[in-house]
Amino acid sequence: MSTKSEKTEGLINWHRLDTGEVLEKLQSSATGLSSQEARQRLERFGPNQLIEKSRKSLWMMFLDQFKDFMILVLIAAAIVAGIIGEPADSIAIAIIVLLNAVLGFVQEYRAEKAMAALKKLAAPFATVIRNGRSESIPAEQLVPGDLVVLQAGNVVPADIRLTEVAQIRIEEAALTGESVPVEKDSMALEEANLSIGDRTNMAYKGTLVTYGRGRGLVTGTGMDTELGRIAALLQEQGEGRTPLQKRLTSFGQKLAYAVLAICAIVFVAGLLRGEPPLLMLLTAISLAVAAIPEALPAVITISLALGAKKLIKQRALIRKLPAVETLGSVSFICSDKTGTLTLNRMTVEKVYADGRMQRPAELPLKKQTESTQGSPAFGSPLDLLLTSLALCNDVRLNASGDVIGDPTETALFDLARGKGLHRESLDEKHPRLNEIPFDSDRKLMTTFHPWDDGRIVSFTKGAVEEMLERSDKVLSSQGLEEIDRSKVLKIAEQIAGEGLRTLGFSMRIWETLPHPRTAEQAESGMILLGLVGMMDPPRPEAASSVAMCQSAGIQPVMITGDHPLTAEVIARRVGIIRGEKDAVMTGRELAQLPLAEFESAVERIRVYARVAPEQKLKIVKALQDKGHFVAMTGDGVNDAPALKRADIGVAMSITGTDVSKEASHMILLDDNFATIVKAVQEGRRIFDNIRKFIKYTMTSNSGEIFTIFLAPFLGLPIPLLPIHILWINLVTDGVPGLALAAEPAEKDIMQRPPRHPKESIFAKGLGAHIIWGGLLMGAVPIMTQAFYIDRSQAHWQTMVFTVLCLSQMGHVLAIRSERESFFKQGMLSNKPLLGAVLLTFALQMATIYVPFLNPIFKTEPLPAKELIITILLSTVVFLAVELEKVIKRSKTKKFRED
Ligand code: ATP
Repeated sequence: MSTKSEKTEGLINWHRLDTGEVLEKLQSSATGLSSQEARQRLERFGPNQLIEKSRKSLWMMFLDQFKDFMILVLIAAAIVAGIIGEPADSIAIAIIVLLNAVLGFVQEYRAEKAMAALKKLAAPFATVIRNGRSESIPAEQLVPGDLVVLQAGNVVPADIRLTEVAQIRIEEAALTGESVPVEKDSMALEEANLSIGDRTNMAYKGTLVTYGRGRGLVTGTGMDTELGRIAALLQEQGEGRTPLQKRLTSFGQKLAYAVLAICAIVFVAGLLRGEPPLLMLLTAISLAVAAIPEALPAVITISLALGAKKLIKQRALIRKLPAVETLGSVSFICSDKTGTLTLNRMTVEKVYADGRMQRPAELPLKKQTESTQGSPAFGSPLDLLLTSLALCNDVRLNASGDVIGDPTETALFDLARGKGLHRESLDEKHPRLNEIPFDSDRKLMTTFHPWDDGRIVSFTKGAVEEMLERSDKVLSSQGLEEIDRSKVLKIAEQIAGEGLRTLGFSMRIWETLPHPRTAEQAESGMILLGLVGMMDPPRPEAASSVAMCQSAGIQPVMITGDHPLTAEVIARRVGIIRGEKDAVMTGRELAQLPLAEFESAVERIRVYARVAPEQKLKIVKALQDKGHFVAMTGDGVNDAPALKRADIGVAMSITGTDVSKEASHMILLDDNFATIVKAVQEGRRIFDNIRKFIKYTMTSNSGEIFTIFLAPFLGLPIPLLPIHILWINLVTDGVPGLALAAEPAEKDIMQRPPRHPKESIFAKGLGAHIIWGGLLMGAVPIMTQAFYIDRSQAHWQTMVFTVLCLSQMGHVLAIRSERESFFKQGMLSNKPLLGAVLLTFALQMATIYVPFLNPIFKTEPLPAKELIITILLSTVVFLAVELEKVIKRSKTKKFRED
């Protein structure tokens, strides 16, 4: 077997070897590797992954916590103060700064871990034949010599020499820049120096299978692939900042200037009052460190990453972090029908052949031999229809006889088998010679089989309209007749009108097998055999999820390849179509409508039927032009552009192709529509909590600034020492703030319209709250100071210090809900926050009552009476916010009554 270095140097021209030679060189076989051999090779060659840019080490992550300029200035100032003044103060400051860094580090580490876990979950799988059996394994575990199965929708998991192909086409833009898919085959090529694009028997890691099927042997994995060789150029950019983070970063920078200006004024005012310059310098810098909200973007990452982790429990896997933030703004959810709104459990309910509509139970049992004897042109239409159900079908039987395949195909296969037509024996007599695979654009599939009379029969199945366009005869028990298209269409509509998925079946007889390249023309001049109607019931939870969307101001829309009538019936059952104005549009109408006209109608359309996946892009664009925020589901290769363009592209985990998953922002682990709605609800909750966090920290910061800034203007000394400011910043910001992320959803979360994505984070009274809340939070300590100023400094300062700290705890409890009273919410509905508040309270009490902390914090134990007064004063902010909520509630009530 070749060595790694041999391959890296390109010594082996895999494309020049024939299949036998490739097998020999790779020491593999037609039944694949054994598991043991694969394990050994995995150890030898390493995992099949591109080596990532070096990760930040834990040390770097910790040191990064100090890279903020103001922190550096603070440390420098503390050192200077220590040298010329009191070293104890400096040490205390240093410890607090260190603790702050530890807190920041722990948060960042948790966020990283959550992100890494998400990445792992989103890792792709590959289908491989090992020990002669096909299995799905993480693509990371592929080794050279593995026999891999490729099909439309796969991202090629390693470099592969194709050994078997069925019209496989691969898009290699990632390597060659050429976006037109290349048709591949398995023949050895002569020339040695072929460019990647010309090596038509190779499939390269990272390229996309857009059509057909194939198999091949892995020739290189991980960095030892063509992609690996250019991996450095392709290293994915970091997650990128979310829109909110970008806005907050730029806002934070502006705010920093304002805070610095205020700190400068505090510094100068202090000097003018005759305070010691070094103390004033430390005070001003501590205030700057405490009040500049640089940590905000980082905290948002943490909330989003933890939110994404929680979303997995709801069966939604987030691939791109900003999606968590924007989920709450979704105003249109465009969903597939089959499998997402319905169960994707098909059963055949109606069979139409030879002019008769029958239920499956009414059909007679068949003998295998009867069905395919003699010339197909004179066979019984029902027999041939049942034969085509079994033969023009992609299901597989595994070793234990279970049927593996798409539910539509399985239902058809089951019906044929139930009526006595067994695929195994049919396959022996009529093996599949060639095929034109199904794709959602054509909505057809065709297979070619040898017949008893020496001729070839092709069976085609697919959407009825497509079949009718391509069939000119119909088979009845009297023989071949001219087709009456309008009659067949009426029958199809009758079936679809019952909400059944309707498929047509045709055949064509050939003297010889058509050349693969002319196969596409094979779907013409056909003979219609009959129609089949299949039931796919709506998911039981679909109707309630649709109703929840509607009450939340989100419009659910169905997009399907199915017949308009089938789609409409299902849409009515789940409540997507309710009123007269709700419209259904077909793909054909959509194609003909100019964009401007379509845009004027787009908001009324609830169902798009018979659409090709490419048309989803037009729908997304039109809705976005109308100012909507669109979530769009998709599972196929051709859905990828629409998923990318949508604000939230949603891929399916079970039925979805790798290509659609790569293009998506979120993957539904259960393929269920209800999961999108749950994710939107969770997204709204996460965003609400981020807003609450901002409300909390920014009000706290403004409270601290007002306390220090306003006191001198009222003729009072600076109320707090640097250590007090830093301590309050340490114990109030981190833990209680983060515990807000655990706040449960507000009761009305799905009864209010979506938030406009461009709406300022400070809208809806948040900005005003920060100002008035901060003013009050500053006024109460200043008044306390003024009242007790004739006592010792340690005494009044202890009170002021404690009032400011505990007021923030009162505030955080009150802002847990935008409108609901704290007393109604109850203490226990956010236990982490309750714990954090109690912890902060205990720590604050420690600074007063633990004797050895008194000299460090310059505090003194308060007598019971003063402690009670301090605590009562600390509830003022809490009560004020509760009052604000009473006013808000009464306003809405009045609005509702009006
Ligand atoms: P969605 O999942 O978007 O709701 P869908 O499952 O109805 O849509 P497709 O799978 O693209 O969409 O199917 C579109 C049409 O193609 C079907 O209505 C049917 O007529 C036809 N069709 C579906 N599956 C097959 C198949 N396996 N073979 C032949 N024709 C098929």
